[in-house]
This record gives sequence, C-alpha cells and structure tokens, in this order.
Amino acid sequence: MTDIPTYKHNDTQTLENYWMPFTANRQFKANPRMLAEAEGMYYKDTSGRAILDGTAGLWCCNAGHGRKEISEAVSRQINKMDYAPSFQMGHPLAFELAERLANISPQGLNKVFFTNSGSESVDSALKIAINYHRANGEATRTRFIGRELGYHGVGFGGISVGGIGGNRKTFSQQLLPGVDHLPHTLDMQNNAFTRGMPKTGAEKADVLEQLVALHGAENIAAVIVEPMSGSAGVILPPEGYLKRLRAITKKHGILLIFDEVITGFGRVGDAFASQRWDVTPDMITTAKALNNGAIPMGAVLIDDDIYDACMQGPEGIELFHGYTYSGHPVAAAAAIASLNIYENEKLFERSKELEGYFEDAIHSLKGLPNIIDIRNIGLVGGIQFSPSEKGVGKRGFGIFETCFDKGTLVRATADIIAISPPLIVSKQEIDQIVNTLSDAIRAVG
Ligand code: PMP
Repeated sequence: MTDIPTYKHNDTQTLENYWMPFTANRQFKANPRMLAEAEGMYYKDTSGRAILDGTAGLWCCNAGHGRKEISEAVSRQINKMDYAPSFQMGHPLAFELAERLANISPQGLNKVFFTNSGSESVDSALKIAINYHRANGEATRTRFIGRELGYHGVGFGGISVGGIGGNRKTFSQQLLPGVDHLPHTLDMQNNAFTRGMPKTGAEKADVLEQLVALHGAENIAAVIVEPMSGSAGVILPPEGYLKRLRAITKKHGILLIFDEVITGFGRVGDAFASQRWDVTPDMITTAKALNNGAIPMGAVLIDDDIYDACMQGPEGIELFHGYTYSGHPVAAAAAIASLNIYENEKLFERSKELEGYFEDAIHSLKGLPNIIDIRNIGLVGGIQFSPSEKGVGKRGFGIFETCFDKGTLVRATADIIAISPPLIVSKQEIDQIVNTLSDAIRAVG
C-alpha cells in the first residue's frame, strides 16, 4: 500500500502556483487555512486541529465526511472499470443512477442528463430549453429570464442569467444576448427576522407578466431561478411566489427551470425544494450533494415532454451536446452510494425534523451587534450584518475567520454568514456552531 502523503504548508510547500477560485491569493497566503482530513462532522487542518463543518463543505457533503459506503463504492468501481466513453455506448451505473434520480424527483421529471458541475448543469438546461422550443417548431423562443442576486455558476450561460454583479461585470460585452432579470425577493424592511418563508412579496413574480408583454411570449425560452437563493445569502421565496411563477410560465408556454444545485438532496427538508414548496418546474439542475461532493458530478432532471420533443429528429437526436465525463462510472458509483445513505438514514426527513431546533438556535443570535436579518429553512440559515465602516464584506469575512480560528467552519458572502451543516448534524453540534458564531460576532463587533 502506498503511503498517504501528509500535507504541510508551512515549511517546504510553495503556495505560488495554484490560482485559487474566488480567492484573493495574497490574502490567503498570509494566513493559509489548509484542510487535510475529514471525518463525520469534522475537518482537520494540516496541524491536526479539528474544525466543525457548519457548511457541508460547500453545500456538498450532506451525509457528512469520510463515508466508507461511498469510498468503498468508488474503489470497487474504479477497480472494475475506471472509465467508459460516454456516447454511442453506455454502462449500467449511469442508467441505474438515472432511474434512482427519477424515482426521487418531482412527477414527470424522469429524464436525466449528466454533467460534471452545477455550472455545466445550468448551461445544459439553457441549451435544452432552446433546443426544445426549436424541436417544437418555436425557434424564436430564445430569450431567458433570470433573477437579481441569482447564482447559476460561471459558464457564459450561467453568468448571463445570474444576477450577481461581481460575476458579470468583467464580461459585460460577452454575455448572452436577450436576457432579463426579475427583481430579487429580499425585503428586509418588511420581512427581517422571518422564520421560514416570508409572508409578503409573492407579487414580485408578476413582473414576469410585464416582461412577457414587453418581449412577447413567443420570444421567451425559459425562466431560471434558484427556489431559494443560496450563494447570495440564503434568500427565501415569499409564500406563493414560486406558484405564481409557475402559473405565469405555464400560461405563456415558457419553461421554468429550478436551479437546485444547493437546495437539492435534502437541504430544505425534502429531496428537492420543488417538493417542499409543491411546485413542479420543467427542469431541475443539480450537482454538489448528488454524490456527497465526493467526485465532480452534476445532473439535469428533465420533463418527459421535453425529452420526447428533443428526440423526434430524423435520427432520433436533436440536441448535439454532452461531456466526455457525462455519467462517469466512478462518480455514478459515488452518487448511488450517497443516495443509499440519504435513504437508509432518512436524512431528507431529518433535515425537516431538525428545522425547528435549528431555527430557534440561529434566531437566538438576534440582538447581537450589527445583525440586521436572520433567515432559515430546513438545515440552512443566513445571518445578515450591516457592513462595517471598513467596507462591504469586511465584517462577514472577519466573522468567518474568527469562527475558523475557534474551530468552526461557516461561510461568508459579503456581510452574510451562511450555515448549512451536513444533515447528520446533532443538536449539540448545532449549539456548538451557534455558540462559536455568537462568540465570533461579539469579538468582531
Ligand atoms: N447553481 C447554484 C445554485 C449554485 O449554488 C452553484 C455553486 N455554488 C452553481 C450553480 C455552480 O456550481 P459549480 O460550482 O459546481 O459549477
């Protein structure tokens, strides 16, 4: 057996070559937070210090870390067959996984297109939407409608429909043409500190009618939204909002895509947010917890009608699209093992069961310095702070750093702290996350 290397950053290892994603490299190098091991609810850094995972990695590891069922399935599969070409031939695991996903997805979404990431799932869904309308004899339907503050990955499609300025500005001349954005649903004036879904704001969906009037339904391909915005800081849909979006899109023959890269696989208390809020879109994009973050993989869940329309062509194929690693056998093995854990341990139900406890715990922070809103659903919460005079994001980052130093991982986006622990989290661990956060908030001020 080969030795497992031990990682050290502070002696001989150079930090000069890796261009880190979404990270200020210079800032990182001044104080590198280097993770080396993970087990259950904990990471360990390179010095062996335990860090409680309050974020399931990056919203990925819903079954916790170091799951032997997953590593054994991966090892078995890689020894049996490491890779198989993804087109013009298949392998059983991709079909088995597609069937498993169809079984837990909302009714009618029985077709699965495999990708390697959330970004690829989003761009695939957008292409499928255009292709569907073309196959259906409506080739003018090419416009997309996203939403302010939406995050849909980093492909050119994803940043075009996305609504976070920082991801778009550099590329403003290269974005997809014909994209509009609905208003976001964050309303701290009326809904600050709401537990669960805000009561007011559903009418913001009606802006879609104005966009339809402006452009004509015959030119609009799809609306894409995160049912709950994750990356922009846990923004919940107001009660009735998603149903209204569904009604308007249906009325005008516009497809509705839910980006469930974060909300999928139990985060908000059901397999998918679509089920939690009883709204069935035409497509769902997923990734992350699909295989517990073990190996890059994403999937688009697609309505049967869309698939049927796209398969009508003379050769039974209308969409020229795919990836070398679509349905990768090793990633698929990890996904099936993850779905087994989610099912056997009833983790989606657990997310709902612990919702009340989690909600009370994070709302107990109300009143601490500079907190202007607290939001939550399932096992996800967001705590919003007013920016410090040092600049936007400085307070959030300071709280993240302080929590990390105190042994708990939380996530900072601007001045919002997001918490999204693995769904195996215990009540004591929820308390530990919230207590550390409370200390950090007081320390940072
Ligand atoms: N969509 C949503 C809703 C996401 O949260 C993310 C990632 N945070 C993505 C898409 C992009 O996923 P990836 O980073 O795997 O490309």
